[in-house]
Amino acid sequence: MRWTQTLIPTLKETPADAEIVSHKLLLRAGLIRKLTGGLYTFLPLGLRALRKVEQIVREEMDRAGASEVLMPALQPTDIWQQSERYEIMRDVLFKVRDRAKKEWVLGPTHEEVITTLVANEISSYRQLPRNFYQIQVKFRDEIRPRFGLMRAKEFIMKDAYSFDVSDEAAQASYQKMYDAYSRIFKRCGLKTIPVEADTGAIGGKFSHEFMVPAETGENEVVYCEKGDYAANVEKATSGRKSTFAASNSATEKFPTPGIVTIEGLSKPPYSVAAQAQIKTLVYVVASKIVLVLVRGDDQANEAKLTGAFGTGEFRAATPEEIFGALGAHPGSLGAVNVTKFPVYADEALRGASEMTTGANEDGFHLRNVSIDRDIKVTLWADLRTVCAGEPCPVCGQALKIQRAIEVGHVFKLGTKYSKAFNAVFLDEGGQQQLAIMGCYGIGITRTLQAVIEQSNDKDGIIWPASVAPYTVCITPLAVAPETEVMKMAERLYAELSAAGVEVIIDDRDERPGVKFKDADLVGFPIRIGVGEKSLAKGEVELKLRGGALTSIQPDQVVGRIKELLATSK
Ligand code: ATP
Ligand code: MG
Repeated sequence: MRWTQTLIPTLKETPADAEIVSHKLLLRAGLIRKLTGGLYTFLPLGLRALRKVEQIVREEMDRAGASEVLMPALQPTDIWQQSERYEIMRDVLFKVRDRAKKEWVLGPTHEEVITTLVANEISSYRQLPRNFYQIQVKFRDEIRPRFGLMRAKEFIMKDAYSFDVSDEAAQASYQKMYDAYSRIFKRCGLKTIPVEADTGAIGGKFSHEFMVPAETGENEVVYCEKGDYAANVEKATSGRKSTFAASNSATEKFPTPGIVTIEGLSKPPYSVAAQAQIKTLVYVVASKIVLVLVRGDDQANEAKLTGAFGTGEFRAATPEEIFGALGAHPGSLGAVNVTKFPVYADEALRGASEMTTGANEDGFHLRNVSIDRDIKVTLWADLRTVCAGEPCPVCGQALKIQRAIEVGHVFKLGTKYSKAFNAVFLDEGGQQQLAIMGCYGIGITRTLQAVIEQSNDKDGIIWPASVAPYTVCITPLAVAPETEVMKMAERLYAELSAAGVEVIIDDRDERPGVKFKDADLVGFPIRIGVGEKSLAKGEVELKLRGGALTSIQPDQVVGRIKELLATSK
């Protein structure tokens, strides 16, 4: 490719609305351009890098035995009603109408479509297992599209769906995808941590997210440095044990004028340690009041609450709603003798005694509360957020917390969709069975940006050779035609192209400084400089991105680059 024939609009200044480094570099290196919030055009170099990621994904999916298909992005509304996700996912669904005013959905994901297909086409255990994947555009009406390709309204995903005859077989399919994902991200030059993920209502151990550690990530990962535990904070547990005084004293109301926080009560004259307090939170779940109890020093976790409530549709009650329900304001709340509302208690409070909590009377608390004796708990569940420093649930070493970007997700679905779409097969005994499903997503566009987020310096992008838009950039320092410099540049360009190396020649009539800066900004792994001075000595310059300049004889260029590429694999 010739620089002057394509479009690489590099920018010196950082566009004002780009917050994170990878977004800035995507724009500055001329890889993408914004059409409007959450919608981007891939320019030639960006598209090349994107195709590289796609190809790695394709090769590894094929290797793992999955077959590529392509499903429509435009989907009929009725399949979304059939899976009961028309309502559940209404916040992210893009809907369009045709000329007859009939409504359609722009697919945010494809479980409904693939299961419809499999229900029609597969009928016997002999046709299973099967795994179908596609690489395609998805549409999601994200509340906060941001960070460029990281959270867009339209993005490219690889989604795969497995169908199996048994639970055991489904787990084997899951493992194959897990292994394929590990290879994919490694080949993209990405360091990822697979972490246990929240399984929502489905439950079970079979959900992992592949996370790229990055301060700008939207997720938090709890992990043990020994490598024996890693989980999304939405799911993480720890080995922390609560110890409580074992006593049976009667509860006692005492005045606490003006004290409305856990911290206030932990100070003299009260001096009640936060972990000896019960924090009472009030939520409105599907328009009903629910009380949630956690230890005073703990925080309730929204994802865990979603699991416990069985719906994501809940919110904190307003002070007015709370006063109406419990007769007191936040800061004096408790669940002792509360029978009118369900009480959900965090596991860390099991067996708690000698606890202090609000008395449901402003300015008063209760002490010597024993949870088993004094509080009617409707449901015990893990509801709290694990903190850094708590012991690893496997080995006891202090846990760490790290922010991260989710690039992929593997998930054992079970029979939710096969039931909804009657995806059944006849087993060996002639019995009808529901296919056991798994689904597996990789954000292709997000992965591309994550590579940049993880690999850059002050000068620009540092591409791993596997996803670089071009491997080599040839930089003639002067471009007047028929000069020795340009002839040599053209010769190397032809030789490298013939050798199958992906090469671009910067044939712009620009100062060398500008060209070098742009080559570093775009981040080509190898740059070959051709200038009059070195050529006079029978040499050209070879520079690895971020490395030192070396001189090399023109005849050795192709061989040397092939060597470098072989070792970078
Ligand atoms: P998130 O929690 O980040 O919204 P998700 O759980 O909704 O992700 P999945 O439905 O599991 O994501 O989709 C599979 C993959 O698609 C994700 O791992 C992520 O890499 C990518 N992805 C999801 N939403 C977006 C988006 N709005 N823009 C770009 N990529 C996305
Ligand atoms: Mg999402």
